[in-house]
Amino acid sequence: MELTPTPPPRLSPSGAGTFEQCPRRWRFRYVERLPDPPGEAAVAGSFAHRVLELLMQREPAERTVEAAKAIARQEWPETEIGEEFQGLGFDEAESKKFRWKSWLAIEGLWALEDPKTVTVVATEQDIEAELGGVPFRGIVDRLDEEGDGLVVTDYKSGQAPSPRYRRGRLDQVLLYAAAVKESTGRMPVRARLLYLGQRPVGIDVTPAELDGVTEKLVATWGAIKTACSTDEFEPRTGPLCGWCPYADRCAEGTAEVAKRQNAKAAEDAALLAATA
Ligand code: SF4
Repeated sequence: MELTPTPPPRLSPSGAGTFEQCPRRWRFRYVERLPDPPGEAAVAGSFAHRVLELLMQREPAERTVEAAKAIARQEWPETEIGEEFQGLGFDEAESKKFRWKSWLAIEGLWALEDPKTVTVVATEQDIEAELGGVPFRGIVDRLDEEGDGLVVTDYKSGQAPSPRYRRGRLDQVLLYAAAVKESTGRMPVRARLLYLGQRPVGIDVTPAELDGVTEKLVATWGAIKTACSTDEFEPRTGPLCGWCPYADRCAEGTAEVAKRQNAKAAEDAALLAATA
């Protein structure tokens, strides 16, 4: 059956990010709706998010490491029987290691802040807004009230970026800040990513920053609409093809993966010859 590509009713940061990375991948994911099973890091991140969400919904005095441990124990059985965790195919030892790594991420919150001192306004807040005419939707991990105003906070359990890549990673929380401003009339003062167990990466929210991310979103939305109307979704090959779940359906991606594997094999052979 022929599929007619249509733009989604609302654009999320992950949908925009997928299109910016590779339009062809976006088509596989959002038009053909092929599964994109999360890897270990993403499943661990979801579990850590859930535990921290429930922790931060408690009264400030109750936000202790012991409480987080109890929540993690209570939530684990549901994660364990879930499709995403089962999809990882772990044996008992791997499952134990997974739980340990997830716990380190959860406990890593205390390296960044004392949760008892945070004034939480909302957790897992589903926000919809028109940004520059684009129907936007995002789920904000946490909205905090600080002395000088609202702060948008998003947890991250992956590796914190080097200074060179920091600004690019902040687009997502800046879009959330723009959506909060649009839907509540209050402009957040800061937006930040909490890299659990590592460091926070944040930015002051200014009208210029919000205009910048909104313009980029508008451009991506325009490109999605054009691609849908012509059904032309360019394959954007690169190192990420090696992690693309659709590489075996994409001739350009398959060729790219093979090219990189051959180059790596030649490099290894040259290194071996030089050290023999
Ligand atoms: S394999 Fe590469 S080019 Fe093909 S869809 Fe995936 S990311 Fe895009």
